[in-house]
Amino acid sequence: MKLRTRFFLAAALAGAAVLVASTRIAAAEPDGQITILYDAFGTDAAMKKDWGFSALVEISGKRILFDTGNDPDIFAANVKAKNIDLTSIDFVVLSHRHSDHMAGLDHVLSVNPTVKIYAPKEGFGIFGGSLPSSFYRKDESLPTGMRYYGGNPPEVMKFGSAWPRANIELIDKTTEIAPGITLLSLVSDAPGTRELKELSLAVNTADGVVLVVGCSHPGIEKIVEAAVAINPKIRLIAGGFHLVVAPDEAIARTVATLKDTFKVENIAPGHCTGEPTFAALKQAYGDRYLYAGVGTSLPLGPGTGSVGRRGEGPAIQEDDLATYRKLAHREDPFGILKARNLRSGLSHL
Ligand SMILES: [Zn+2]
Ligand SMILES: [Zn+2]
Repeated sequence: MKLRTRFFLAAALAGAAVLVASTRIAAAEPDGQITILYDAFGTDAAMKKDWGFSALVEISGKRILFDTGNDPDIFAANVKAKNIDLTSIDFVVLSHRHSDHMAGLDHVLSVNPTVKIYAPKEGFGIFGGSLPSSFYRKDESLPTGMRYYGGNPPEVMKFGSAWPRANIELIDKTTEIAPGITLLSLVSDAPGTRELKELSLAVNTADGVVLVVGCSHPGIEKIVEAAVAINPKIRLIAGGFHLVVAPDEAIARTVATLKDTFKVENIAPGHCTGEPTFAALKQAYGDRYLYAGVGTSLPLGPGTGSVGRRGEGPAIQEDDLATYRKLAHREDPFGILKARNLRSGLSHL
């Protein structure tokens, strides 16, 4: 009897050990994931939809908050709905100065006031900046009272940030901020956003680059070109491609460049990519189009898009595709151009 009890006890302990070991393996197995926290489309009823972008990128042992959405209350509600602890993130990346990507920063700072934030360096930008005082012309014939700084300027002139107490590090050029984690720094030359600097997140993994983009104002092709310099194998692009008002021909060109020139393996478009571009990418990529509406978590296992699990979402039906195409053939399918004429500054989308 005693022996039997001992046997059962030993068996139970062995079973528990196996359970603990398998749990550990299961927890360590996924290579991370991207969770969309902010966007204007999605199927998750627990998440609020609004124009803007934010994603939690868990990869290479880091938890990175990429952009913060358009409204601090909606951002906070979506973060809560996904049970995300903002005190444990490693750092924040703000892709660019447009409010639909950074208005949720207030909420982040209210929870985690000292978190490291990477933001693009722009002259007199809202994230702060600096210039050597040699930038302005001097006139030594003027009386001291008419001269800047009484004629004795500091060597470097510093310009304030809209978040003066935040721990912001300004990024001026493409920089590897942690092993394998690079912030690509590019500048837009498109009308309406000329000179706007934008950061994109490129994470080099054993399976190729995982690229997260905010709005792609400098052009998605240019951003991918910069990522290819790190590793020619692009495993996944997620985020906004800024083709929301692009005509069909431009969309077709971009889709062909991504698929045929750069051989981007998987695509998870969101935000300002645009509905007709969703349709075109879905058609081109088939099951390598990973649905990424607000609330979706894209697993980044080794087989992302091939043998791995995919982001869940509704498949686009043929009749939906037909509707998209019909709309795309209209000159201004969503009334966006008209709205643009009424409201200048929409180019920031
Ligand atoms: Zn933008
Ligand atoms: Zn945007």
